[in-house]
Amino acid sequence: MGTSKRYDLLVIGAGIIGLSAAYHIKENHPDISVLIIDRHAAPGQGDTAKSVAAIRDTFTSDVNRTLARSSIDFYKHIQFETGFNLNLELVGYLWLLNKEEVKAYEAIEADMHEQGMRLRTVERNKLSELIPDLTLDPSSEQSNLMGLKSVEKGLHGLDCGTIAPELIVNFYDAELRKRGVEFLFGAKAESIRLGAKQSFGLPGEPFVWQDKLIKEIQTNQGPFSAETYLVAAGIGTAQLLDPIGIDCMIKPRKNSVFQLRGTSLERLLATKGFNEQNTTPFTILPGGRIYFRPVPKERSIWAASAPGLGQPFKLEEEPSADESYYTQNIYPVLSEYYTCFTNLRPVNMWAGSYDVNSLDGTPIVEKVANCIVATGMSGSGIMKADAVGRVATAIFDDKEEARLFGDRKLSTSRLGLADRSVGKEEFVI
Ligand SMILES: Cc1cc2nc3c(=O)[nH]c(=O)nc-3n(C[C@H](O)[C@H](O)[C@H](O)COP(=O)(O)OP(=O)(O)OC[C@H]3O[C@@H](n4cnc5c(N)ncnc54)[C@H](O)[C@@H]3O)c2cc1C
Repeated sequence: MGTSKRYDLLVIGAGIIGLSAAYHIKENHPDISVLIIDRHAAPGQGDTAKSVAAIRDTFTSDVNRTLARSSIDFYKHIQFETGFNLNLELVGYLWLLNKEEVKAYEAIEADMHEQGMRLRTVERNKLSELIPDLTLDPSSEQSNLMGLKSVEKGLHGLDCGTIAPELIVNFYDAELRKRGVEFLFGAKAESIRLGAKQSFGLPGEPFVWQDKLIKEIQTNQGPFSAETYLVAAGIGTAQLLDPIGIDCMIKPRKNSVFQLRGTSLERLLATKGFNEQNTTPFTILPGGRIYFRPVPKERSIWAASAPGLGQPFKLEEEPSADESYYTQNIYPVLSEYYTCFTNLRPVNMWAGSYDVNSLDGTPIVEKVANCIVATGMSGSGIMKADAVGRVATAIFDDKEEARLFGDRKLSTSRLGLADRSVGKEEFVI
């Protein structure tokens, strides 16, 4: 297809980040022409659709905290004040901590209280009273072999929960269409043509000594051009930008989710004492790697593990989940701590790929020439998307400070690469 029409803004990637950025830019500039392209057939079909979509405000770095808190507040605003349902459920996060983790988190916990995060301690006896299916002291031969440790206490994050990313996507999609933004699906950006800002029409341009700009992107549907390009292509970002020498510092890392269902999970799904929904919170097992999300509407639980040592950084265009990953890595631990998972096999499974910023695990929003890059969500892009979109908007507007939801401010350079300052995140799942 292609078009000779030149857009003011061309967004590559209709995931939650590209949509959020386009939404806020268009809010600020109702008259500009915007085209959003995506290789999939509809918006939000990349990582956004694969997410476990848990959201939390409990971060130790003020940047992460600000990004997450303001985005969660925006989602609350959309759901509770405008009436557009996002299935936002503040079911809480429950960290089950072993002895070493209790010690390691002591200072962090105190700091988070000071920063206004609502975290409550759930003592061991209370945990067994509220969650009869939980084994506090796994002691079977298998548990000993795996080195599973006793649960010393629970930490319950109250302003945390879950959301439906597809509904956030629907919200942005509807609002963008209302504002005249164009979409083109099934359009894969294949390469980017860089040119000289001031061209002499010489073969071999742009030369080292010339200022450069993106002139055009080539897609399977022909070329498209714009004044400004916004690349929010998730794990596809590096593939597009590496060839033109923009280093976005990300690596892809697969993550799989397993859906479990069975009558033995009913009591867990109907846990009282944590939230209004009377369900078990989003739960992180001791050791911090294996977690599960209750999905009461589906009468199911989604289980996954946080990627780490042993899991490769590798690009897979369409990653798929493998049941043996569940059987060998997740099930043995899950079923020792929670007997109600015993003998359950996944009824469904899927996989996505984190765009991991391997430097500090925090989003990157940077402008190079006429290209804004928004990437490096590192597994927490749903909970930070609104704020990331607003930072991209401030950069589009050449502003040094982004105004986030709830009158919060964030200096745009903090997420950039040149003057990056994101602090250390110590509360990582
Ligand atoms: C298993 C799993 C669990 C997760 N759990 C959570 C969680 O609990 N909480 C949380 O906040 N986050 C979570 N995340 C992370 C979250 O899903 C992502 O951070 C977020 O969706 C990133 O959004 P995005 O728009 O950057 O990427 P994407 O949603 O991947 O969007 C990028 C888009 O770009 C398109 N694209 C790529 N390359 C091209 C190209 N060359 N041409 C055209 N289009 C292209 C893709 O089709 C895609 O639609 C999880 C992710 C996974 C995989």
